[in-house]
Amino acid sequence: MQTPVPDYLKHVLSQCQRNTDGQLADYIPELAAVDPDKFALALSTVDGTIYSTGDDEVEFTMQSMSKPFAYALALQKVGLTKVMEKVGVEPSGEAFNQISLEKDSNIPKNPMINSGAITTHSLIPYKRTVSRAEQLRRFLSGLAGRELSFDSEVYTSELKTAFRNRSLGYMLRTVGVLEEDPEAIVNGYIKQCSIKVTVKDLAMIAGVLANGGIQPQTGKKLLDRSVVRQVLSVMLTCGMYDAAGDWLTTVGIPAKSGVAGGIIGVLPGQVGIAVFSPRIDEHGHSVRGVDIFERMSREMGLHLMEGTPSAQTILQSCYWAGKNDDVRVYELRGVLQFTESEMLLRNLQEEPPGDTTIVLDLTNLTLIHDVGARMLFEGVERLQQDGHRVVVVDSEGLLSQTQIQKHAAVLVQEELERYLQQYE
Ligand code: GLN
Repeated sequence: MQTPVPDYLKHVLSQCQRNTDGQLADYIPELAAVDPDKFALALSTVDGTIYSTGDDEVEFTMQSMSKPFAYALALQKVGLTKVMEKVGVEPSGEAFNQISLEKDSNIPKNPMINSGAITTHSLIPYKRTVSRAEQLRRFLSGLAGRELSFDSEVYTSELKTAFRNRSLGYMLRTVGVLEEDPEAIVNGYIKQCSIKVTVKDLAMIAGVLANGGIQPQTGKKLLDRSVVRQVLSVMLTCGMYDAAGDWLTTVGIPAKSGVAGGIIGVLPGQVGIAVFSPRIDEHGHSVRGVDIFERMSREMGLHLMEGTPSAQTILQSCYWAGKNDDVRVYELRGVLQFTESEMLLRNLQEEPPGDTTIVLDLTNLTLIHDVGARMLFEGVERLQQDGHRVVVVDSEGLLSQTQIQKHAAVLVQEELERYLQQYE
């Protein structure tokens, strides 16, 4: 049999094809010259599979979709504190190119609007021989898993009409947010916007964020978890500018649009989605792109706030084993976060004090968050204080060294069945 996912994507594309509303972004002359009917959709999973349909080989410029990644690179290289001194995290409720600053602090409200993005660009460390835009191109190529390039026509075309972005640059220089020549920084920002991608690249890039910063195809860690969290939070609240509330309620997926017609969306831990269709609405979002995201979120249950009640499944089974039925086994499954750990500890609370051997089997867990590991070992210590002998079976090696810390003595790497043989 063949998976129906590609058929579904094709179906979505054909359903939304009829919509020809919106206009090309004509304030950048080169963007007004593209074929308005190009249309593509791609979806990536956190294990690195990419599905795509339509004009999925067509390259287009990232434009504002480059902003979250410039932000990610700045955060990764100079840290949150330094970045926060220069760019806020509050939704502006204004258009992407609004000439405004946060009231008291005099810094741009967030990194997704142009003033914040120009500032973010200025925070990317660079060398004399490798510009900031080039640093970002290299970084994005790593995320995409292929060498990306600049579109020099679109770049020079936007340079000619970038009066508004220049005025933003000069305003930022006046208040001291920019500390260097604003011309050079604005040019660099415009160059960053001209990085070319296909929907497949975008889906791959989104997949890295969905996967917590690890490139699913190479297994390489490209971003810290804390950076991914920060970037996705800002995408969620500010990524769609003055339509962010509408987007959050109807789609509920952290996302970023670009005026060339792309939208990139990331559902943490689940999927990356990318759309390309060049006609845009008054906010600068691809009209058919918005359509597709709304439809997929609704039909596939992808809204962030849908949240599956995973805590109900943390205990797969709980039974007595051993010759004398005196070994208590807890088999866990799912993801161990706060709510699941709370449920597990509430179950362990039922164990009366005594000298039972208690085995906690982690084999069927898919992920253990730090808080999950901390709470698990807290439970282990409390059971020990009650007189029990506790064993944690981690045959898949899910626990990281930092999560294990001083608890290595209770760990067993064998498979559960084999470990239990000694009690038979
Ligand atoms: N390069 C464009 C600009 O700065 C990007 C805007 C966008 O995609 N919303 O105006």
